[in-house]
Amino acid sequence: MPAQTNVDNTEDIYDLCIIGAGISGLNALYSALHYLPQSARVLLVDRKPTSGGMWTQTYDYVRLHQPHQMFTVGDLEWLWDKPPEYLATGSEVLEHLQSCLDRMRCKVRLTERYETDCLRIEEIETTLGARAVVHLERQDGTRSKITASRAIHAAGWDVPPIKPLNITSQQIISTCPMGLSEVDIKSNSPALIIGGGKTGMDTALALMDGDNRREITLLNGKGAIFGNRDRMFPTGAKRWWQGEMVGSLSADVVGRFNGDNALSTFEHFRSRYAISPDMHGAQYMFSTMSGAESERLSQGLTSIRHGYLEDVTDGPSPVAILRDGTSFSIPRDTLVVNCTGHFAASSDKRPAVLSPMGTILHINPRASIYFLSTSASYFLTHAFFLNVLRTMPLYVLDMDSLKGKQPQFYFLTCLTHSFHNMMVFMNHLPLPVFSRCGLDINRWFPLHRRLISFARIKLRKHSYIGHSRAVLDRLHSDGSISCQQDFD
Ligand SMILES: Cc1cc2nc3c(=O)[nH]c(=O)nc-3n(C[C@H](O)[C@H](O)[C@H](O)COP(=O)(O)OP(=O)(O)OC[C@H]3O[C@@H](n4cnc5c(N)ncnc54)[C@H](O)[C@@H]3O)c2cc1C
Repeated sequence: MPAQTNVDNTEDIYDLCIIGAGISGLNALYSALHYLPQSARVLLVDRKPTSGGMWTQTYDYVRLHQPHQMFTVGDLEWLWDKPPEYLATGSEVLEHLQSCLDRMRCKVRLTERYETDCLRIEEIETTLGARAVVHLERQDGTRSKITASRAIHAAGWDVPPIKPLNITSQQIISTCPMGLSEVDIKSNSPALIIGGGKTGMDTALALMDGDNRREITLLNGKGAIFGNRDRMFPTGAKRWWQGEMVGSLSADVVGRFNGDNALSTFEHFRSRYAISPDMHGAQYMFSTMSGAESERLSQGLTSIRHGYLEDVTDGPSPVAILRDGTSFSIPRDTLVVNCTGHFAASSDKRPAVLSPMGTILHINPRASIYFLSTSASYFLTHAFFLNVLRTMPLYVLDMDSLKGKQPQFYFLTCLTHSFHNMMVFMNHLPLPVFSRCGLDINRWFPLHRRLISFARIKLRKHSYIGHSRAVLDRLHSDGSISCQQDFD
């Protein structure tokens, strides 16, 4: 038992400290507001100069891959009347997130500290009970610490900006989405796009906008597929009868996955729910694409190759060398655009979801509860303030333990894990927590369809929980992944 400390510096005492002002941190704040009085002191900390997280520093041509309404904070609405299917641009997302924060500011006594890094959080026993001590450092090196009744480290994905690849060749231009200027986009320089995920596809579409005649090669690892947006989010009256609700899609796919059959289950998912410009691909990272976008890409891309770039070397013309030893020539002055690695970073240490004395909550992919950091923050913060977190049989997945695994297995394990935990949330959190959750992508559909889907899932939830728990337990016990009910 740690020694008791007197907390006497009232200036530095907060009811809540949230680290991270991205969409995860803002969702944590939104949920916390339901439990905190208006007089509560809340500190919001971020190392960036403003709120908004990755949306403050992403590439100009980025757009949401999903209809904008459900990319939000709690159930705060977008303050415009664009059509529901509109895919917001990066600057519109940032504006929305900042407007959400504006709307929450008056609900508590909120202090914001930007350009401030959280170095560590520890918990201490005080005469007033357990407290979190947050160690901070401003960009000028000034250090301080604050005490809070609770702290939420909502770094979420902590998405790092992409950098150009380190390439030997002097005959090409190594760049990244942030480095592409208007001139690059409008020119007809050939392009080699490295990575076929959401960023690679955005980049290909942007480069096609500039000049359709340019040569664009996509180097697409093991290949990526996308959820079929036309099927997942049908528009207009079709919402009344068409489209796949995410709950039934997950139940269908998770129900087939037994831990050993990743390839055949993935094939079922691919053929039923997915789309991609060449209909190949082993990787699904939870993004969506429409039939029209897929068609434009398959028409506009000169070629799609599979493999991983090792380097580009100089010769009579530059040569792209792949990890498997194969190579191919590319024209001089090719723009080699790095579109890889958005989610590669992770913390060195695996944090506990909940600290031993219960004052610190971590939203972190190394102790993941749900594949979307937004929903993880929203639901976990409710459970944290309701003091039920430790009683909930949630599974904690260390996403690092999936690194290097087959991409099909990666996706199916994440889906099984998230589906399991969503069922547990449904069992343990009060109904209003769900009805106030604007992040729920089922909100795309009319109420009667949502209610039918909700009722079906509720009816079968025990068998869903049993099946997914058995799969996760088995994968954990045979060492395939680290996923267990291990909060500390
Ligand atoms: C190109 C792209 C497009 C995407 N589009 C979509 C989409 O359409 N729909 C969707 O659901 N998802 C999308 N995503 C996923 C997206 O990453 C998440 O939805 C979300 O924006 C991530 O938010 P976050 O708060 O978890 O992380 P971030 O936005 O990275 O925010 C984390 C914040 O925490 C701060 N922070 C971290 N550690 C510390 C510390 N120690 N001290 C101080 N501050 C700290 C960081 O500075 C950062 O501001 C997209 C991702 C990318 C890369």
